[in-house]
Amino acid sequence: MSKLGKEIFIGFLPVLLIFLIFIGVNIMPVLFTGLLAFTIYYMLRSRSVPGISTSNERKAKGRTPSFLNFDQIGGQDRAKKELMEALDFLIKHEQIKKLGIRPLKGILLTGPPGTGKTLMAKAAAHYTNSVYLAASGSEFVEMYVGVGASRIRDLFREARSKAQKEGKESAIIFIDEIDVVGGKRDGGQQREYDQTLNQLLTEMDGIHTDDAPRILIMAATNRKEMLDSALLRPGRFDRHIDVELPDKKGRLSILGIHMKNKPLAEGTVLEKVADQTFGFSGAQLEGVLNEAAIYALREEKSLIEQKHLADAIDKVMMGERTDRETNEEEKQRVAYHELGHAIVAELVRPGSVAQVTVTPRGKALGYVRHNPQQDQYLYTKEQIEQQIMIALGGSVAEEMFYGGRSTGSRNDFDQALLMVRNMIDCGLTSLGIVEREMVPKEELMKENAAIMAELTSRTRELLEKQRTVFEQALDVLLREEVLSGSIFRELLMASISRIA
Ligand code: ATP
Repeated sequence: MSKLGKEIFIGFLPVLLIFLIFIGVNIMPVLFTGLLAFTIYYMLRSRSVPGISTSNERKAKGRTPSFLNFDQIGGQDRAKKELMEALDFLIKHEQIKKLGIRPLKGILLTGPPGTGKTLMAKAAAHYTNSVYLAASGSEFVEMYVGVGASRIRDLFREARSKAQKEGKESAIIFIDEIDVVGGKRDGGQQREYDQTLNQLLTEMDGIHTDDAPRILIMAATNRKEMLDSALLRPGRFDRHIDVELPDKKGRLSILGIHMKNKPLAEGTVLEKVADQTFGFSGAQLEGVLNEAAIYALREEKSLIEQKHLADAIDKVMMGERTDRETNEEEKQRVAYHELGHAIVAELVRPGSVAQVTVTPRGKALGYVRHNPQQDQYLYTKEQIEQQIMIALGGSVAEEMFYGGRSTGSRNDFDQALLMVRNMIDCGLTSLGIVEREMVPKEELMKENAAIMAELTSRTRELLEKQRTVFEQALDVLLREEVLSGSIFRELLMASISRIA
């Protein structure tokens, strides 16, 4: 039942009972049965607290081995090193006690979804030979005040008894999505959340160096700024470890780990996959390999080939191919649009186009897959301008061949405008170094329009010279639906040498 449904039900019930009394109905049997049902329900729910861990473990077991060590986590070298150093506190507790160092109580892992935070917690349990219990912040959220707090208590109790039963000296409790219960307290409106958080703080304060078993709480969030400061203060979650999206080396190592149980055809190069998956998380990379294996199965192949991997990257990035039927005219417009993006991309960043497609996938009717040459975190003004021109290439191509644009450029414009905004914020425009709020709106609009107009005209200038490439590539695209980066480059190079 939804939360709103529950609230309406709770509001309606007393009114119904009063009404029944009013009209003279004996409500005692109903009341008795209801009370009995509620007690049974409540008992079952409380008993399911140990299930917080076991169900999560079961869920996770499907994806990862239950005993996981740090070698089975790809990339994240810095995060793993920091975590291992922190965990040594738990292992070398005698030394730590002698020096009067207070025990490490909480480690907070922060970072985007799917980067391996849960894996880190499991590996930590293995590394320290601790029992492992996991729960998610949302599992403590109930509309009844006190239930969340009692679940926290039960979780700690369960950790202690499980460690004793298994003869382990320590236990690691992992709380995913800690922001759900550990968000900033706002003074009473969310009493249930406050009580749960207070209980967690109390349990943390009750952890001492001499405790047997020793308890360490690990928590994960991708919204650290939302957490209540009481959680982050020294003595609570005072070790923060960033678990970032992997760089190319990290991606390759994650792919290597997940490739182990998958048969690769000879000549497949995982490095290409690592190249083309900039910005992918570990979970997405695992997804790519899984999808590639599914594509191989669909084609009744016993080995995974490079093209399966390429399709799988598209699938994870853009979604599954859709059966949306586009008419010939629409398909041709999409082809011109995508070629517009691809030609600009190849001219400003030679070698960057991996593939042009007019197969509808997810919400897109067509798309260009780019090869990021290397992971990049800093961009110059010229590089952002080039990015904007690539985004504008589609609409400019439509204008060249149809005399006007279509609704297909909306996302491109969103991207372009975001980049212009970034340029303004980074002081890369004629406005100089400014604070957005202090510049009049008209000035911002004028600067925005000037940048867009100039880049649109530069894009048109580039594309006008390549009309023949459009025509030649269009034939292949409409026939095959896919144009590989290398064939596309051959066509473009031939045209460039003709012009020269
Ligand atoms: P969320 O924040 O959504 O809970 P998370 O950061 O906890 O995500 P995990 O649950 O640890 O992510 O990872 C999900 C899956 O992604 C793992 O089971 C594993 O298959 C894969 N994965 C993620 N990161 C890595 C990595 N660094 N090495 C190997 N596999 C990884």
